[in-house]
Amino acid sequence: MSKKLNWIQDELHNLQKAGLYNRIRTISSAQGARLIVDGKSVLNFCSNNYLGLANHPQVVAAAAKAVETFGVGPAAVRTIAGTTDLHMQLEARLAKFKGVESAISFQSGFNANIATIPALVGKEDAIFSDELNHASIIDGCRLAGSRIVRYTHCNPNDLERAFQDEKEKYGRALVITDGVFSMDGDIAPLDEIYAVAKNHDAILMVDDAHGEGVLGKGGRGIVDHFGLHGKVDVEIGTLSKAFGVVGGVVAGNPLVVEWLEQRGRPFLFSSAMTAPDTAACLAALDILEASTELVDKLWDNTHYFKGELRNLGFDTGQSVTPITPIMLGEAPMAQQFSRELFENGVFAMALGFPTVPRGKARIRVMISAAHSRQDLDEGLQAFAFVGKKLGVIQ
Ligand SMILES: *Cc1c(COP(=O)(O)O)cnc(C)c1O
Repeated sequence: MSKKLNWIQDELHNLQKAGLYNRIRTISSAQGARLIVDGKSVLNFCSNNYLGLANHPQVVAAAAKAVETFGVGPAAVRTIAGTTDLHMQLEARLAKFKGVESAISFQSGFNANIATIPALVGKEDAIFSDELNHASIIDGCRLAGSRIVRYTHCNPNDLERAFQDEKEKYGRALVITDGVFSMDGDIAPLDEIYAVAKNHDAILMVDDAHGEGVLGKGGRGIVDHFGLHGKVDVEIGTLSKAFGVVGGVVAGNPLVVEWLEQRGRPFLFSSAMTAPDTAACLAALDILEASTELVDKLWDNTHYFKGELRNLGFDTGQSVTPITPIMLGEAPMAQQFSRELFENGVFAMALGFPTVPRGKARIRVMISAAHSRQDLDEGLQAFAFVGKKLGVIQ
């Protein structure tokens, strides 16, 4: 027998020893404050379903109606088989929601990044990228083949330093940052980053995956949060987090959108979002535009839960958003914490390397408008119990 794949066994074994092996739990219920996980009813503190839209009756009804009209599959890529009017509507509505001229949808936020970055820059060019940017940005940068210049996390002075160091060595320049950083819950200083990018006539791109539906007026995102309308060239978004569905979006300058229709490889070579997904996103937009109630509830819940965690003595790191890390140090401790929480009826995953740096393992709690005050209190009780048991808090 050939041994050519034995190395995988060794690598998997190493991951298990280091506490870095992903064990994926099986869910058998709709998304919401509670889930049935591995056959057990638990409180859900894992999902990116910020506004509870993933199982909102109005969103579900819109998807069901679209299934009846359009069926389930898109049948081919849009450039070859045409596109539905639902997709056109969604793109126009997303652009309006974001306060930009134009938008284009993708199958996921990940695809939106790997489509956009190589379409904007190539081998002769330079990308200035925050050192903690999302994996899909990093992969997009690698695909572009550009020179990648990492700057210190959320540090506009270091971005300026990077431009000085690189002077004259590139054709075009692209500055990319996450809006909200998904592991720490901190917000990029986009106003200051804009100032540096403008100074060097660089294209500015922000990935607002965790900002949409969360930051800005009624969840309009990070550009609205900073009042930078018309100043950011490209906004990447996902429809899988606050929107509660699945899909990605690129919003901004109409030239960028037109170019992506011609040169965005996941647009050209992968089938589109399905019609039910698209209709569900349109319904989610209706809800967001009708009222700020869900976004307000998300923030109320966030302030309450984080305040109480800190009162208990937990370290929630740099977070200023609903993303709430509980810093635990080494990965095995974070995994044990997660297992004990599960025993106590709480589903909150441990994150370790390579999702976060080594030695910075954590439990990441995701707060949602779907949580009631009672849900949050029950969760806090479990955190207090496990925290004391494992000696993380007094
Ligand atoms: C989640 C996330 C993505 C990927 O979005 P999907 O729609 O799930 O593919 C991209 N960028 C950032 C910053 C994210 O947090």
